[in-house]
Amino acid sequence: MKHLAERARQVIPGGVNSGQRSIPGLTDLVITHAAGARFRDSQGREFVDYHAAFGPPLLGHNDPDVSAAVAEAGRTVDLCGVGVTAGEVELAETLAELVPSVEKVLLTSTGSEATFHALRVARAATGRRLVVKFQGCYHGWHDAVSLNVISAPEKVGTHDPISTGILPEVLQATLVLPFNDAEAVRRAFAEHGDDIAAVILEPVPHNVGCLLPEQEFLETLRAECTRAGSVLIFDEVITGFRHHLGGWQAISGITPDLTTMGKAIANGYPVGALGGRADLMELFSSRPGGPAFFAGTYNGQPAVVAAALATLRKLREEPVHEHVFRLGERIRTGLAEVFASLDIPALVTGYGSVFVGYFMTGPARTYDDLLRNDANMFIGYRRRLLEHGVFELPLNLKRSHVSYAHTDADADHLLEAAASAASLARG
Ligand code: PLP
Repeated sequence: MKHLAERARQVIPGGVNSGQRSIPGLTDLVITHAAGARFRDSQGREFVDYHAAFGPPLLGHNDPDVSAAVAEAGRTVDLCGVGVTAGEVELAETLAELVPSVEKVLLTSTGSEATFHALRVARAATGRRLVVKFQGCYHGWHDAVSLNVISAPEKVGTHDPISTGILPEVLQATLVLPFNDAEAVRRAFAEHGDDIAAVILEPVPHNVGCLLPEQEFLETLRAECTRAGSVLIFDEVITGFRHHLGGWQAISGITPDLTTMGKAIANGYPVGALGGRADLMELFSSRPGGPAFFAGTYNGQPAVVAAALATLRKLREEPVHEHVFRLGERIRTGLAEVFASLDIPALVTGYGSVFVGYFMTGPARTYDDLLRNDANMFIGYRRRLLEHGVFELPLNLKRSHVSYAHTDADADHLLEAAASAASLARG
């Protein structure tokens, strides 16, 4: 019988269902089991998983409480596509209680849909054209934000789409600025303020590893948006619930007008959410007469909502953040020591449960700084980690995550593997 991966390539372009799931150097990866901090493949290989599907399973894979809630939902109500369920109300109330900016909230199935609708309603509210995003931030696959994520050095400072097939006039309606550059923000508002509908950012750009935001930068964004009447959107699809139950806005004390959420809300089930100021949210067509069209067949799907409620309950009731923050710090400190002991220039950074080791010297304030990272070493090191059964995605600048299911023994194993992988990768 043909290997499943081979069959997949016959009928699925590239054999996988999303970009960046096909890993050079790890051929024929067919996943068969995932539980806790580990996954296994059809060849019997087992990996301690720090990739975590780009972020959702903060509790670990197939968390038993989340799985039980989903099974129970499957016995109660599936999708009726009319009215509302008790779970949707409870989830909306919980999000409004936890996230400072959220007065009203709508559910989507993905983070991309949430950011799409955030920009749509910002344009609807302001009647303006331009969107500001930052180099290194990713907000999903739709056209307005599909540019300038991981750019080659010569593309920084120019429009750099991540896809073909996007109308140039759509790209031109997005201004791209350097992250953590308050002066560039002030200049953009001085020049275009009257036409800026929205500013969208990952408050911590984790799609390029980890650039920690400077408080003055966030304060400038808030002040300029308020002054110009532009909508400030925090895309907390990664930072939300993972770094704090109230997201980065609770950590920084800067309240955006709209917040997009996803990933860790439901520990792996497909959910996104868009919430914020009531006057903006009331523009959506979920309210009869709302001028900004909003729809989605699967929005608020009961099993997904049950997964979210079970996840949020566990995040509130158990010491999840305490555990992942402690383990994350242990790993960051341990990796820095490992690389230093080998005389390998490295900057190990991150926040809470997220860690990334760049092979460069600091600082890491802006995307430009990350151009100093030794991409060959970054990828080579992670490929060597695979030989030790440790999975950190072997693609340049990708972050890694600790879950509630990872243990100190897992951290010990990672640090041992790191020493061997780094010295071999250096060659
Ligand atoms: N926003 C951020 C910050 C993300 O990291 C992602 C996905 O990685 C998205 C939005 C898009 O979310 P989704 O993949 O659920 O559409």
